Amino acid sequence: MDALPSHQHLSIPPALRLESALALLRHSGHGEPAGLPGSEPWLQELIDRLVDLSSRDPLTGLANRRYFEVALAREVDRVARSGESALLLVVDIDHFKRINDTYGHAVGDQVIRAVSEALAVTVRPMDLVARVGGEEFAIMLPNCPAAFGPQVATRVRHRVARTSVPLYEGGAVTVTVSVGGAFAQQWVRSSTELWMQRADRQLYRAKAEGRDRVCLEASAVSSVSVEEKVMLYGTSQFQDFE
Ligand code: GH3
Ligand code: MG
Ligand code: MG
Repeated sequence: MDALPSHQHLSIPPALRLESALALLRHSGHGEPAGLPGSEPWLQELIDRLVDLSSRDPLTGLANRRYFEVALAREVDRVARSGESALLLVVDIDHFKRINDTYGHAVGDQVIRAVSEALAVTVRPMDLVARVGGEEFAIMLPNCPAAFGPQVATRVRHRVARTSVPLYEGGAVTVTVSVGGAFAQQWVRSSTELWMQRADRQLYRAKAEGRDRVCLEASAVSSVSVEEKVMLYGTSQFQDFE
């Protein structure tokens, strides 16, 4: 008896399940590829759309959390090697639950979309804006000098406050946002989690101090955490200084 082809020893599925891939695109609002089904350009477009689907948030078209975290990890690496400064902002809509409760979920979705657009047009093309939660966004600003931080965060806050969503029955909805921010630790091979935590701590402070405001971590150098020092030097010798 002939030996089985090698792939039969492995658990490789016999064929790519195109129907499942198409259903996934249809349900996420990404649409189906144009052209002759099964043709090379059709398959290429299908693959492109699936790649896009895996990195984008369908409601806003912004990068999703997964894509953002990968980009952030790359930036942590770059900052550690180059010593350039990079800023991470986290943005959360204030009292958003009230919007849903007062005007309904559909208007809530429109507000989320309007805020996304406001964020996207406020930053530079090299910056990355993502929707990282329901009404939470994150912005990564590579090569961002310390003095520029408060300026850009404030610009984001003002731009959102000027944005309004018209209501079908007349009138319009406006919202405010709270913004927290932290610079990456230069020359330190930190982690995305710690960077996110530091920015989140500032967001929490902005909420606690009354919302509709920006809080940025005071100094990138003095706020290197124990974990980050351990990552840099491989020991816990700096714990005494905390
Ligand atoms: P705070 O100022 O403390 O941030 O208050 P908040 O009401 O914005 O915060 P909270 O986290 O309590 O509420 C967020 C709400 O966002 C709860 C949830 O129902 C709503 N939400 C989450 N995702 C979506 C979405 O995709 N669409 C809509 N319309 N609402 C969403
Ligand atoms: Mg909120
Ligand atoms: Mg929130």
